Amino acid sequence: GQCVSVCPTAALTEVSYVDKVWEALFDSEKYVIAQTAPAIRVALGEEFGLNPGDNVTGKMVAALRRLGFKKVFDTNFAADVTIVEEAKEFIDRLNGKGRLPILTSCCPSWVKFIEHQFPELLDIPSTCKSPHMMFGAIAKTYFAEKFNIDPEKIVVVSIMPCIAKKYEIQRKEFKHGNLQDVDYVITTREFARMIREAGLDFTKLPDEDFDNPLGESTGAAVIFGATGGVIEAALRTAYEWITGESLGNVEFNEVRGLKGFKEATVKIKDMDIKIGVANGLGNARKLLEDIRDGKRFYHAIEIMACPGGCINGGGQPYHHGNLDIVKARLEALYKLDKSKPLRKSHENPAVIQMYKEYIGEIGGEKAHKLLHTHYTKREKI
Ligand code: SF4
Repeated sequence: GQCVSVCPTAALTEVSYVDKVWEALFDSEKYVIAQTAPAIRVALGEEFGLNPGDNVTGKMVAALRRLGFKKVFDTNFAADVTIVEEAKEFIDRLNGKGRLPILTSCCPSWVKFIEHQFPELLDIPSTCKSPHMMFGAIAKTYFAEKFNIDPEKIVVVSIMPCIAKKYEIQRKEFKHGNLQDVDYVITTREFARMIREAGLDFTKLPDEDFDNPLGESTGAAVIFGATGGVIEAALRTAYEWITGESLGNVEFNEVRGLKGFKEATVKIKDMDIKIGVANGLGNARKLLEDIRDGKRFYHAIEIMACPGGCINGGGQPYHHGNLDIVKARLEALYKLDKSKPLRKSHENPAVIQMYKEYIGEIGGEKAHKLLHTHYTKREKI
């Protein structure tokens, strides 16, 4: 059963929170909210006989409402927050405040990997929490205050393609007294199981919209689910902030696709910004070794532990080695990006409003308290 997985680090310790989530949903004292990762919406349909890459966002939202979630929000909102924080950090480091390359920090598998294997590189990862952890922190502060809900009653459930995220929510940096940023993680397959347990006919559900304000997002956020997507999203914002000009073509094709390692040089003002993108831990190890030994230089790198990124995460519907399925999911995410009226994270109006009303400056004191983390050297495994 449950331990059959392709997840590189967490396969042996997988726990299921499904019972806990049902319990919370039936507890009238609790205010249970869901957030869904970008990769879910292009894969969940496979569990119900639809085609890989079919976009089932609307039915997914409808299903969560019928399961009893009080609000259905989108991790993509927090992905846009991640990008504004990370682009700011990148620009600071380009200006000499901190070490290069900056390494994107969304994938808890490689975060654990680097803590064990590359302690001398612990100052390269961005200090940004991963998007779903940022979401949890925002839900229990900004959202709770704005809508006058006791944060102790809020239960945040992340619907994720990822098994390592079950471990991530237990890290002590994400616990604050009685509260933890995210309470439970449910994988795509477990979510499908809950839909079946509830007797919902998934394909017959109507299409519904996310709740607001934490349901609004741009095209930059949805490509987080594919290898290269996070760095592309960051480039869109960093480019505009550095040059002060609007970026005409927002698509960085060199960092797209399923290849295990990709690189690109992007001209921003008078700088040639060198980008490296690795997916799969073998490719990541090689890249990090070369950086550690000074053999290669990049300004920014992205690593995802799963080959292809989160669309191919250990919690996704099984594809039994059929890479066409992974490709279909990947193409679906880029199509979704293209269909969005806003495609740059810093233009997300709900994000702009949150900074204005609550967080203040991007990269400022409150942002650091809520949205950033730190890394710790761990024993070699
Ligand atoms: Fe999880 Fe995505 Fe990392 Fe895979 S690539 S371990 S699904 S965060």
